[in-house]
Amino acid sequence: MTYQESVWDDSPSLKSYTLSNFRDLPHIQNLSEEKQFEMEVVGNVLPFKANNYVVEQLIDWNNIPTDPMYVLTFPQRGMLKPEHYSKMENTLKNTSDKKEIANVANEIRLQLNPHPAGQMELNVPTLKDGTKLYGMQHKYKETCLFFPSQSQTCHAYCSFCFRWPQFVGMDEMKFAMQEGEQLVQYVSEHPEISDVLFTGGDPMIMKAKMFSKYVDALIEAKLPNLKTIRIGTKALSYWPYKFLTDSDSQEMLEVFKKITDNGIHLAFMAHFNHLNELSTDAVKSAIKEVRKTGAQIRTQSPLLAHINDDAEMWAKMWTKQVQLGCIPYYMFVVRDTGAQHYFGVPLVRAYEIFSQAYSSVSGLGRTVRGPSMSATPGKVQVVGTTEFDGEKLLVLRFLQGRNPDWVKEPFFAKYDENAIWLDDLKPAFGDKFFFEDELTTHPKTLQYIKNDAMLINDS
Ligand SMILES: *Cc1c(COP(=O)(O)O)cnc(C)c1O
Ligand code: SF4
Repeated sequence: MTYQESVWDDSPSLKSYTLSNFRDLPHIQNLSEEKQFEMEVVGNVLPFKANNYVVEQLIDWNNIPTDPMYVLTFPQRGMLKPEHYSKMENTLKNTSDKKEIANVANEIRLQLNPHPAGQMELNVPTLKDGTKLYGMQHKYKETCLFFPSQSQTCHAYCSFCFRWPQFVGMDEMKFAMQEGEQLVQYVSEHPEISDVLFTGGDPMIMKAKMFSKYVDALIEAKLPNLKTIRIGTKALSYWPYKFLTDSDSQEMLEVFKKITDNGIHLAFMAHFNHLNELSTDAVKSAIKEVRKTGAQIRTQSPLLAHINDDAEMWAKMWTKQVQLGCIPYYMFVVRDTGAQHYFGVPLVRAYEIFSQAYSSVSGLGRTVRGPSMSATPGKVQVVGTTEFDGEKLLVLRFLQGRNPDWVKEPFFAKYDENAIWLDDLKPAFGDKFFFEDELTTHPKTLQYIKNDAMLINDS
């Protein structure tokens, strides 16, 4: 097969590779049976889906097993902790009963902090009539997140993804809402909202017809507060044909144009983890098509060990994004769920990588902010290190806060080279961070919904 040669004007159709058929891939058959079994063990717990574009054009099969796109999409042994790995390994060796395997998988998943930052209950908004909107999150004043029920999947799955409970059939954990009507109602009841962010999964998995239903509802309601529609998507990276040759590609681009023609900004939040994702003819053409509609593409990615923990790569990636007309926006710290032990990069190291990359790109690339943790109290950026009274400190600040006032001032933590998340940090002064009293209980509990209502719904 001449994998590297296929080009986008072939109009390929999407072919998925999952646990059930990945062994059909010739590249996988080249790996030892032991390696294939390892993938099966991990893939039974964490979500696993690749596709023909990823396999044929993004992964460099001469660079296995360290190729970043391979690690991003194919399960690796280290992604499960040894005790979880052996549990699933033994189960697979002892039974082929699907139910039993699924039970063990769910048992392990529940130990992986499946809804970090209290996502499940903490940010669920309600309409004035009391209806709970499980398909939405409203954490920061100006922006509400909308999870269309049709977008609970993606063109391929990222092995680090914290949305994984949505993909593995733990149904009660899905946030999904049936209709756009409630979305419109909520935005109209909340004049402080200027941005609606479509997310998922990947909303660009939706057919244009479905997506336009939601968009039309928003446009027709003529909500004076609605200034921006954002789409959080990895389709440019995993399936650029969505904007090139898929049967609804032109229709989708027309929906984008309709948004911008109606005076609403379309912020296309593109998820790119590696420079290699920006290398194909297909992605370059797709970026051009999306930009032609008047949409502005902004880019974001977490910093991931084994995939992109390399300052030079980030600098090249941001420079390439600027060259292609995209605006670098966020570098995230990988969050405390799933395989954080595998992908996690200590905060001090994350700051070094960020600042080294940031200082070596043109000012047009320095629109990016990070490294940022999306933690329970908000998005917390590591700003740098400093010294006070002979003691080394980390300087932090809120980029977004559950309480908007929190973004106003920097705060300090004791310097800790091993900390990988906000929870690991100790306050530099006093025994609490300034925001902790408002959060009242331990960040991992879900008991402060009352507080949340105070801070968000009545803001
Ligand atoms: C990041 C994020 C947003 C958007 O924040 P911006 O800084 O405006 O990009 C909104 N809601 C949630 C829950 C987020 O994590
Ligand atoms: S594309 Fe986004 S939602 Fe989908 S698996 Fe990757 S990170 Fe998760």
